[in-house]
Amino acid sequence: MIFLAGVTLTVLAAIFVVMPLFREPKGNLEVELLAETELDRLLNRKAVIYSNLKDLEFEFKMGRLADADFRRLESGFKTEAAEILQKLDQLGTEENLEDGIEKAIAARKTALAAGSGPAQSRCPSCGAEILPGKRFCADCGRRL
Ligand SMILES: [Zn+2]
Repeated sequence: MIFLAGVTLTVLAAIFVVMPLFREPKGNLEVELLAETELDRLLNRKAVIYSNLKDLEFEFKMGRLADADFRRLESGFKTEAAEILQKLDQLGTEENLEDGIEKAIAARKTALAAGSGPAQSRCPSCGAEILPGKRFCADCGRRL
């Protein structure tokens, strides 16, 4: 059972390492979405590894595992856990997960607002359309 879990983890780890290499650069919005699913995945994997470590220690204490096997599997899990923690650190730690989600939502709103085009404004004096970034009305010359 432990061996099977180990093999599964190794395969998942290999997929996880190789996947980003095939990823095309995306727009900001998609990067945000990817980052969020990656965060979910990392948190899930972290939970799996910690539960595997607990199982491993339990099996070892029950005498079902050889000392060498225990050390080997334990160090494998711990190495992977460290890698995950490092990646989580890059994405934003578990503690400020809420912050990260809020930032992602804010970034998405900004991106959506930018995508819908700048709001059109009108000259308060003559009502002519004002191009964004202009400091004077093109029609009446009023300072804006
Ligand atoms: Zn004007």
